[in-house]
Amino acid sequence: MARVQLVEVTKRFGSTVAVDRVSLDIADGEFLVLVGPSGCGKSTLLRLIAGLEDVTEGEIYIDDRNVNDVPPKDRDVAMVFQNYALYPHMTVYDNMAFGLRMRKVPRDEIDRRVRQAAETLGLTHLLKRRPAQLSGGQRQRVALGRAIVRDPKVFLMDEPLSNLDAQLRVQMRTELARLHQRLGTTTIYVTHDQVEAMTLGDRIAVLRDGKLQQVATPHEIYARPANVFVASFIGSPPMNFVRGQVESREDGVWFTGEGLTCRLEGELAEAAAAYLRTGDGFGSSDGDRAGASGQGRRDAILGVRPEHVQARLADEGSVAGTGASGVAAGQGPHLVATVEVVEPLGAETYVYVTAGSLALTVRVDPRMVLRPGDRLALTLETGHLHLFDAATEASVW
Ligand code: ATP
Repeated sequence: MARVQLVEVTKRFGSTVAVDRVSLDIADGEFLVLVGPSGCGKSTLLRLIAGLEDVTEGEIYIDDRNVNDVPPKDRDVAMVFQNYALYPHMTVYDNMAFGLRMRKVPRDEIDRRVRQAAETLGLTHLLKRRPAQLSGGQRQRVALGRAIVRDPKVFLMDEPLSNLDAQLRVQMRTELARLHQRLGTTTIYVTHDQVEAMTLGDRIAVLRDGKLQQVATPHEIYARPANVFVASFIGSPPMNFVRGQVESREDGVWFTGEGLTCRLEGELAEAAAAYLRTGDGFGSSDGDRAGASGQGRRDAILGVRPEHVQARLADEGSVAGTGASGVAAGQGPHLVATVEVVEPLGAETYVYVTAGSLALTVRVDPRMVLRPGDRLALTLETGHLHLFDAATEASVW
């Protein structure tokens, strides 16, 4: 096991900056997931750690040793790829033993390690088969086995489950989690799949255009996204955003925009007040001067996840949303909107609604029967709102 540190690591391919001054400290035994859109530099970052690419600037340390000039075979890392090319003419046993034989590991030591890994991965009864006689999931397990037998300090996994069908993916995801609990090997795992990221990662690192956006636990990333990009990337369907202004009134700090008006509560209200104080006091659409007490208004982006909007039919009294936390009793709806599309998923239903220029996604109780054209009264759970700087898109808290 090992700690992996990246210090201001940059990788350029000609004029393309694939990785841009990334610093990361991955603890011994940690499972770190790298996520981000296509082309954001995830695979390049992994290949830099593996030594398959040279860094342009910065340093990489594995267990406090600078490995910038250490060749891949001497870094003691094992990589598992999406296209796990197994040798078709070799048995499962030989596929797993191959790397160790190349390293001249003694024969009985190879046998012990292969059998132990096969046991861990439930491959013992398949050791004599060839890849063509295996299912996709079994093949992927052999690829993992090849990495495990090496007993490396670090596993580097590049979308290892993306070639599997949906059901197998879920199964292998659970197996990977169990494997990590058992082996405790430091793992850096690249994925597009945010469910994998949320369920496997001790921490998640979100990349965009080669730059690190946020590194935090899955819960922190979900509950306190650092900026609009992270907020929209993590969570499915994504967070709703409303452009408008925060404003200090006698009875608190309010957000207004696109027909929505709501008072901010608790820590968010304090953060919004601080945001108002640090602004120049001018909203873009009017020139209200901020006073010393923080009076005034400032452009901002309000964020609310679909699961934090409660909906009831506009002409009915009862709240039919999926939860009641954060809404004061007797509080009226924040918005009345029209149902455009209803998407039932079984355990929950997502509804796409519009109100004037505003379009929102809302999660509702699957028992609620809705049709396009229905009118919904929406109440935002004020304890779960997010607020972002309109210019930098960074979270204000
Ligand atoms: P995906 O999720 O699509 O696999 P990624 O996040 O892994 O994408 P990378 O493969 O790391 O992204 O690529 C990052 C950027 O670097 C992209 O713009 C890509 O085109 C560029 N790039 C990667 N490898 C090379 C290379 N060998 N030569 C030139 N440009 C490259």
